[in-house]
Amino acid sequence: MLRDALLTLLLCASVAQAREPLTLAGHRVAAGTSASFVTQAGSASLPISVLHGAHAGPVLTLTAGIHGDEFPAIFALQRLRAAIDPGELHGSLVLVHLANLAGFHARRIALSPVDEKNLNRVFPGRADGTQTEQIAHFLTTEVIGLSDYLIDLHSGSANQRLWPHVYAPVIDDPALDARTLAFARATGLRHIVLYGERPRDPANSISYPNTAQTRGKPGLTLEVGHLGQRDEASMARILTACRQAMRHLHMIPGPAAASEGVTLYRKLHAVASPATGLFEPATDVGETVGKGALLGRVTDYFGAPLAELRAPLRGIVLMLNDTPPITLGETPVTLGEWVTTAD
Ligand SMILES: [Zn+2]
Repeated sequence: MLRDALLTLLLCASVAQAREPLTLAGHRVAAGTSASFVTQAGSASLPISVLHGAHAGPVLTLTAGIHGDEFPAIFALQRLRAAIDPGELHGSLVLVHLANLAGFHARRIALSPVDEKNLNRVFPGRADGTQTEQIAHFLTTEVIGLSDYLIDLHSGSANQRLWPHVYAPVIDDPALDARTLAFARATGLRHIVLYGERPRDPANSISYPNTAQTRGKPGLTLEVGHLGQRDEASMARILTACRQAMRHLHMIPGPAAASEGVTLYRKLHAVASPATGLFEPATDVGETVGKGALLGRVTDYFGAPLAELRAPLRGIVLMLNDTPPITLGETPVTLGEWVTTAD
């Protein structure tokens, strides 16, 4: 009996230690090790790292470069890859270093030069679609399929300044929405947009984070950095947010971020230009503006005033297109309508 009990004990111990490898796109990564590779997503190439922790835990995917001219997160993920020891890690980290290589090398704002599509608008994608749709299909099936949590890392494009914020999608699933909001708070960013405007249908999920959300997995969008730059402050802020998210999931040791002082927004209001010409902002990101406040002016090509943009409601300026060209109907200012500033 004693011998049997000892054998059972030894068997249990060896089972507990034998953590299965993680396989992504045919790349098998042993527990406690990492691998970096360029894989094919249809006709596109995707540089990916997998850090498969020695210890059990969730799979967290962090993705940069969905939009090719949003640079700080690309460098933040390179630093994270170098800093995390898979031998110490609980769970697994999947780093999609640059999801839209074609857009990156073409220096394009949002769109791919191959098919003129916005990767963050074609989810869940198609295996037999255009190149951008093929990337979305790969991310949906191979990456989100494997993940428990997702953070999609964005910045302001070459024409855009923004106030650092995070989108926590709301899909009217109270338990999932609460987990997603707690995850968003864990990033340590102080401005959280409760974004409820995406479809609930997994077959028409449109954006990358919403694809995770409609599959029962918390998916956030971080917006940090601006004007197509790769400034140190933005890189450091993104890296800190990723580490804080990992602490929240108990993947690495350390205290979770303090979540007081958070502002929650229920809606974004994009303010359209009533004229074509040259735009000059009269506000700045992070500013609180009252209803009717002057947000910017449009002049004609000779410098004569054409129109003014005014705030349709009281809110905070979260995004601002800070370059002169403006076309009738474009939305150079986006205001956040907050729920509360109390925590
Ligand atoms: Zn973006």
